[in-house]
Amino acid sequence: MHSRAEFERAEAHTAHNYHPLPVVVAHAEGAWMTDVDGRRFLDLLAGYSALNFGHGHPSLLAAAHSQLDQLTLTSRAFVHDRFADFTAALAELCGKDLVLPMNTGAEAVETAIKVARKWGYEVKGVPADTAEIIVMSGNFHGRTTTIVGFSDDPDARDGFGPFTPGFVTVPYGDLAALEAAITPRTVAVLVEPIQGEGGVVIPPEGYLRGVRELCTQHQVLFAADEIQAGLGRTGTTFACDHEDVVPDLYVLGKALGGGIVPVSAVVADRDVLGVLKPGQHGSTFGGNPLACAVGLTVVELLRTGEFQARATDLGVLLRSRLEALVGHGVVGVRTRGLWAGVDIDPAIGTGREVCEALMARGVLAKDTHGSTIRLAPPLVVSPEDLSWGLDQLADVVGAS
Ligand code: PLP
Repeated sequence: MHSRAEFERAEAHTAHNYHPLPVVVAHAEGAWMTDVDGRRFLDLLAGYSALNFGHGHPSLLAAAHSQLDQLTLTSRAFVHDRFADFTAALAELCGKDLVLPMNTGAEAVETAIKVARKWGYEVKGVPADTAEIIVMSGNFHGRTTTIVGFSDDPDARDGFGPFTPGFVTVPYGDLAALEAAITPRTVAVLVEPIQGEGGVVIPPEGYLRGVRELCTQHQVLFAADEIQAGLGRTGTTFACDHEDVVPDLYVLGKALGGGIVPVSAVVADRDVLGVLKPGQHGSTFGGNPLACAVGLTVVELLRTGEFQARATDLGVLLRSRLEALVGHGVVGVRTRGLWAGVDIDPAIGTGREVCEALMARGVLAKDTHGSTIRLAPPLVVSPEDLSWGLDQLADVVGAS
């Protein structure tokens, strides 16, 4: 089959830093992908939430197509005519003053770290080069050397040291441990409102509010990494909205680029992002015209509230169908909006084996941490298609 040959050719010429399912996709629309042999697959991963609006959303494609004919790159040495519209719209969506656009999620996290340190020295008065940032056990914030240095996942970290100092890890969800770790040198708490790579781990109710209170009380910045959890996935624009919490820095990525171009950003008020001066941070491609045209359309789509509402409504179906599997090949389920972590009973097989069996039935999903499958369908999926995909999962785990 064409697909098998293409897969082997791809494997032969790339570093093996991924272990993809053996499928070669050639086309996609909405929640469906088609491989090089014409087989159709329901996408239950949505590019790790980068495809919240589905494959080929007409408004996003139109924005990209029309921008391609006008202007694609200026660098930030010059201002282009799509920059103000995007940054103003995103700032407004976040209720903040300023936006700093980058490309990938890891770059946005690195940006937040730099901003928090500089803010610590210049605003909080922390002695030079002693700033501490508190991070969470089980975190995933990207793959740069600084970021993997404060991961506790051996696969992410081992063999890549020496690492950047200045990070303190506390257990995720534990407010007492967080409070005990805050010192006069603490400049920020970096937290995923829901840990996506960790397996869609949802902290206890009130945790984010507690983080907000502690940060305010101790003059520490609350940096929320909403790269995977934000922009509609959980049924609200931001995952922090579930606890009516506003962080000091929103760290955004993935769906901000509409599944078309890499777009990330740090969004904060002037007293925070204002610490950066010309020459202190930047990116050749960050905030380029194509990225801004697509990113503006993403903000416009989110403003309608339609996608958040879909995530909430479909999330009810997702939750009830998955909860019915507990005790039948599934040992645990966590959901928020249209997002779920499903812990497979090891007696059934590994998460990878379940994903391979799903693939054979025309459903694409991805395992994480051995026995967990993460489900994050595009928010445009129809209830019928979602239900069919969940039927396949039930069959694979032997529950039906
Ligand atoms: N932060 C979170 C919460 C993520 O889930 C990810 C990617 O999965 C990242 C950061 C890194 O984003 P990128 O892969 O675009 O660098």
